Amino acid sequence: MQELVIASNNAHKIGEISELVTDVRLLSLKDIDFTSDIPEPYHTFEENALAKASAIYKFSEKNVFADDSGICVNALDGAPGVDSAHYSGMRDDEMNLQRVLAEMKDVQDRSAFYKAVICLIWDGEVYYFEGICEGKITEEKRGEGGFGYDPIFIPDGYDKTFAQLPLSIKNKISHRGKAVLKMVEFLESRAEADIV
Ligand code: IMP
Repeated sequence: MQELVIASNNAHKIGEISELVTDVRLLSLKDIDFTSDIPEPYHTFEENALAKASAIYKFSEKNVFADDSGICVNALDGAPGVDSAHYSGMRDDEMNLQRVLAEMKDVQDRSAFYKAVICLIWDGEVYYFEGICEGKITEEKRGEGGFGYDPIFIPDGYDKTFAQLPLSIKNKISHRGKAVLKMVEFLESRAEADIV
């Protein structure tokens, strides 16, 4: 089975992605003995995803992918966006979502979307896969599941937050689920081409 490193230390992301990537052997950063933090200094998801994937590719020379993602709130001009992980100034999910709720107090337009960009480095070539999930921001937290902004995000077509919906549904409709599916289809087509 081919190996593929997942360039993330986020246990929630890894859990979601592992459900979807089954035909390759996923390696964690721990598996390849990478213990440092990977900087994400850029202003686009694409650049940050490339920075993470390239750092690990240089370190391990193995096929690797990184997900850079976040929530974009239309009434906040797309914030938190690439700053989602530390919007409050801290890497703290609760403080980050409380800042969004405070900024959205009494705001009518509650539309928002999650975006994920995956950068895959496979046999030395760079590929990108993107997923978007549209929805809206609640007035208060709801649910215990998920992570990050999930307790305040209701995906379009549902009346529950991602923190209330089971992972099987989140993975079908989420930004990350869609991006990962595109990558999985790409890897399947590569595997078929290698067989022919
Ligand atoms: P990064 O991709 O490591 O820069 O961080 C992504 C950040 O975006 C997370 O720390 C969360 O705050 C937020 N985020 C991304 N995807 C999700 C999701 O599926 N649910 C909740 N929050 C998310």
